[in-house]
Amino acid sequence: MTGATSGCREIVVASGNPHKVEEIRAILGPCGFRVLALSDVGGGSIPEPIEDGDSFAANARIKAVAYARALRSTVIADDSGLEVDALGGAPGIFSARWAGLGSTRTERDAANNAKLVAAMAAVPDGRRTARFLCAMCLCDSSGTVLAETTGAFEGTIARAPAGAHGFGYDPFLLVDGGTRSSAELLPEEKNARSHRGAAARAMARVIEATDCARSS
Ligand code: IMP
Repeated sequence: MTGATSGCREIVVASGNPHKVEEIRAILGPCGFRVLALSDVGGGSIPEPIEDGDSFAANARIKAVAYARALRSTVIADDSGLEVDALGGAPGIFSARWAGLGSTRTERDAANNAKLVAAMAAVPDGRRTARFLCAMCLCDSSGTVLAETTGAFEGTIARAPAGAHGFGYDPFLLVDGGTRSSAELLPEEKNARSHRGAAARAMARVIEATDCARSS
C-alpha cells in the first residue's frame, strides 16, 4: 500500500459479527491497515441503524455512514447474504433474519439453515445454484462515502450441512463442483475465494489507487 507512512490507516469494521471482522482483517491487515472491531473502539453500544435499503449496497452504505458519524472514525461496512436462484433470489438482503429474530446469532443461523433446507427440499439437483454476495462501503470520519465494492461466491445449495468453519449459511453452500462446502474451507481458503474476500481486495485496490483513506 502507498499509505504505510501516510496519515490514518485505522479502519473500524461496522459489524458485531466477529467472523466478518476476522475475514476483513485477514485481507486488509496485510495491506497496511489496522483493522479494528466495534468493541475495540467502544462502539458496541452504538444503536444499530435500521437497514431499510433495498440492496446490499444500500444497506452497507447505511451502516458505514451511521457508524462513521457516531465514532468520528474511518469505517468499513459489509452487507452480505445468500441469493438462491430457485427461490427467486431469496433470502437476499433478508439473509440474517430470514427465519425470524432469534436471541443469539447461533440460533438465528440454525433457524435460517432449517428454513433453507425446507424451502429447497423439492428442488432438483440441477436447479440448486446460489451465491453469497457482499457489498462493502468505506466512509471517512465525517460519514462521506469514499469507496464502494462488491464480490460474489458461486455455488449450489447442499441438502445436508457439512463443515465446521465459518458462520451463517457456510455449511450449505457447496463449491468446487459440489465436493466441498464453504464451511469445509480453511479460513484462508475462504478468504481467497469468497464474496467478502473479493470485495475487501477490491476495496484495498481502490484505497491504494486513490489513497482515499489516507487522512480521513
Ligand atoms: P448482515 O450482517 O446483515 O450483512 O447479514 C449477513 C447474513 O448473511 C449473515 O447473518 C449470514 O446469514 C449470511 N452471510 C453473509 N456472509 C456469509 C458468509 O460468508 N457465510 C455464510 N453466511 C453468510
